[in-house]
Amino acid sequence: MDFFKKLSSFFTAPASGGSGTYWIAVECLRCHEVIRARINLFNDLSANFDDNEKAATYTCRKVLIGQQHCYQQIEVTLTFNARRKLIDQQIQGGKFVEEK
Ligand SMILES: [Zn+2]
Repeated sequence: MDFFKKLSSFFTAPASGGSGTYWIAVECLRCHEVIRARINLFNDLSANFDDNEKAATYTCRKVLIGQQHCYQQIEVTLTFNARRKLIDQQIQGGKFVEEK
C-alpha cells in the first residue's frame, strides 16, 4: 500500500496559495531590468529523493534573459521542501526583488 501513499502525495496541493504556481521577480545586474517568471510547482520541479525513495526536496533551475537586448543570463536555482514550500534560492547574474 506504500505505493498508493506515494502516488497520492504527488497530487497533494502545495501549501502556498494552492494554485500550484510560484512567481519570482529578479533584477538583471547589468541593465536592471526586472524579469518575472512563473514556476509551475508540478511541472517545473525535479524531485531529489532521499534514502527511503521519498521525494525529500524539489529543485527548479531557470535561466532568464531580459528583453532589453543586454543578453545577460540570469540563472536561478530554487529549492522546495517535500510540501513544495520554498526553502532556498540562489541566483547568478541578477538579484531577487520583492514584488510590491
Ligand atoms: Zn540585462
